[in-house]
This record gives sequence, structure tokens and C-alpha cells, in this order.
Amino acid sequence: MPVNPDHAIPPPANLLLERTFALADEAATHAFGERFAQAIESVRETALGADGNAFHGLQVQLVGDLGAGKTTLVRATLRGLGHAGRVRSPTYTLVEPYVLERPAGELALYHFDLYRFTDPAEWADAGFREYFDSGAVCLVEWPQRAGRLLGVPDLVFSLDLDHEGDGRVLVARAYSESGKACLERC
Ligand code: ADP
Ligand code: MG
Repeated sequence: MPVNPDHAIPPPANLLLERTFALADEAATHAFGERFAQAIESVRETALGADGNAFHGLQVQLVGDLGAGKTTLVRATLRGLGHAGRVRSPTYTLVEPYVLERPAGELALYHFDLYRFTDPAEWADAGFREYFDSGAVCLVEWPQRAGRLLGVPDLVFSLDLDHEGDGRVLVARAYSESGKACLERC
């Protein structure tokens, strides 16, 4: 099955912030995931605390080849949000749900891996649309496979091998105010 090239989907127009992170080894990815988790918490608490302003969730697209480190970053983020159990790669199930007990209240997180997603009709049938409108954090590997079904992301994380080939480079781009607020805190 051919992989859609990234440029098959035009990037969202309103790039608000771009930052690059050198992740020299897996420990650096773990540390970034920890910071990202804290950033999500902080942005969520700010939204929940503000008058009449709720947290509307976060869509984070993770782009990169097989082995780029997408699942590693999701695992690190989940650990940072207090998840102590296993993190399965949702390669066959397409999505793995989590409910995280946080000081500010329960936080729903959905980890998608759309590598095997082929049928757009399945999107509605599986109820995926609701996950993205539910105020949850959605971390999406292989977002290209869903094309425009995903809508505009708050953040896009692009992972690549670094120069030497044994670390990773993360280019993070924010396309919404909450995405930008998160990225500023990383
Ligand atoms: P993906 O989900 O993108 O296919 P994985 O997260 O499964 O990739 O990771 C593939 C491999 O990359 C794992 O063996 C992991 O240990 C390694 N890895 C992840 N992040 C880094 C990093 N920053 N530096 C070096 N190796 C890494
Ligand atoms: Mg993966």
C-alpha cells in the first residue's frame, strides 16, 4: 500500500509558532514528553480557571517515518500525565483510549495510529469524529491517512533522524492559540 506523502495534505494556513528541539537520545524524548505533559496541564488549568472559558481539547498530529519516535513521544507524554500502565501501539485498533486522573479533574486522551486506516466511511462509523469534539487530548500518528477528516490541528510534531542518524529532531508547529500556548511552555 503506498504511503501518502506529507505534501498530499496542505498544511493549515495560520502557523502561529514554530520551534525545533534536538532530541539526541531516547532520554531527551522522555524529557520532552514530560515537559509537554506539564504544558498541556498548565494550558488546561488556565482554560478551566478562566471565566466562561473551557478547555476545548487538543489535536496533536505526529508526523514521521516508521521508527521516527512518534510512539515513544506519546508514551513519554502519557507517563508525564501520570499514566503508570502499559501503552499499547494502536496499530490494529486504530485508537487506544485513556482516562487520566489529574488534580484539575479527569482528562481523556486518545492515542490514534492511523497507519492502517483506509476507509473514510469508518471515520463516522467508529465514532472518531466525537473524540475530536469532546475536549479530549488526541495524539495522532499517521494523520496523513485520514486526510481532511481530521480538520485543523492545534499542533503538528514532525520527527526525523538527526544528522548522525542516532538521535531525532523534532520540529513543532502550532496552528491555534492553545497549541501555541502549549508550545511556548515546552
Ligand atoms: P514510531 O512510532 O515513529 O514508528 P517508535 O516510537 O516506535 O517510532 O520508535 C522507534 C525507535 O526509535 C525506538 O527503538 C526508540 O527507542 C527510538 N527512539 C525514539 N526517540 C529517540 C531519540 N530521541 N533518539 C534515539 N532513538 C530514539
Ligand atoms: Mg508508532
